[in-house]
Amino acid sequence: MAHDGLPPLRDVIARNDLSAKKKFGQNFLFDLNLTGRIARAAAPLEDATVIEIGPGPGGLTRALLFNGTKNLIVIERDPRCQPVLAEISDHYPGCLHVIDGDALNVDVTTLGPAPRKIVANLPYNIGTLLLINWLEKIDDFASLTLMFQKEVAERVVAKPRSKAYGRLSVLCQYLCHCDIQFDVHRSAFTPPPKVTSAVVQLIPKADRGTEINIKSLAIVTQAAFGQRRKMLRASLKSLNIDVLALLAQANIAETSRAEELSVEDFVRLTQLYDALEK
Ligand code: SAM
Repeated sequence: MAHDGLPPLRDVIARNDLSAKKKFGQNFLFDLNLTGRIARAAAPLEDATVIEIGPGPGGLTRALLFNGTKNLIVIERDPRCQPVLAEISDHYPGCLHVIDGDALNVDVTTLGPAPRKIVANLPYNIGTLLLINWLEKIDDFASLTLMFQKEVAERVVAKPRSKAYGRLSVLCQYLCHCDIQFDVHRSAFTPPPKVTSAVVQLIPKADRGTEINIKSLAIVTQAAFGQRRKMLRASLKSLNIDVLALLAQANIAETSRAEELSVEDFVRLTQLYDALEK
C-alpha cells in the first residue's frame, strides 16, 4: 500500500494495462512526493472546487485528495482510466467527480462553486491551447497550477528583451501574477518526455490598473509578435489602422520591435487601438 492507503501506482498501471499512449500526450507521474509537492503548491484546497485536467492513472488526483481536497472534478479523455478513477473515488467517498470527455469541450467555469482552482499535469500537445482558453475567463478562477514543458513555463513568465517573451507572456502577465514554482526533471515521468518540465502558477490580479478588452490585446500581440523581427511600423500593418498615428499616440518609437515593449506598453497600445477602431 502507498501512504494514502491505495495500491502503489505502478501496480495500478500494470493491473489495468495502462501503458502510456502518445496520442493522449500521456507522461505519467508515479512519485507521490512530487505529486504531493504540486498539490501543496495549490493550497489551500479544502474550500475550493479543484479541477484537474487529465488525471490519467491518478497520481496527482490522489495527491490532491490526500492533501485535503473535498470537491475534486477531473476530466479525462482516455476511457481506460475510468476503472482506476472509480477505485480512487471509492476510497474518498463524495470527494471525486469524474467527467469522461475532452477538456477542450468543457467550459470549466461552469463546474462547481467558486473559488475554482485548476491543477494539472497537462497533456503537452494541448496545454497552451487550454491555457489560452482559460485566460479568456480568468476571473472565474482563484488560481491555475500547471505543469508544462519548461519552455512553455518560461514563455509565461518571460520579461521583455528575452527570447521567450511573446504573446503568451503579455496575456498571462497582464491578467495574472505568474511564477515558476519548480522544475521537474524528465526522469520523473513514465515514459520520460524529451525535455524538462516546470510547474507554473498563475493567480489572477485583483487590480490590473487599466481594464482593457482581452480580445483586442490578443489581436494586437498577435500582430506584433507574429512578425517579431520586424519593426512595429511594419508588423502592426495587419491591424488595418493608421499604425504611425497609433504608435505616436502611445509614445512608442515606430522602429521598436515587439520584444522591446513592456506589458504596460501593450496595454496602452490596445486601449488606443480600440479607440481608433471605433
Ligand atoms: N495526471 C496524470 C499524471 O500526472 O500522471 C497524467 C498526466 S498526462 C501528462 C496527461 C493526461 O491528460 C493523460 O491522462 C491524457 O489521457 C489526458 N488527456 C489528453 N488529452 C486530453 C483531453 N483533450 N481532455 C482530457 N484529458 C486529456
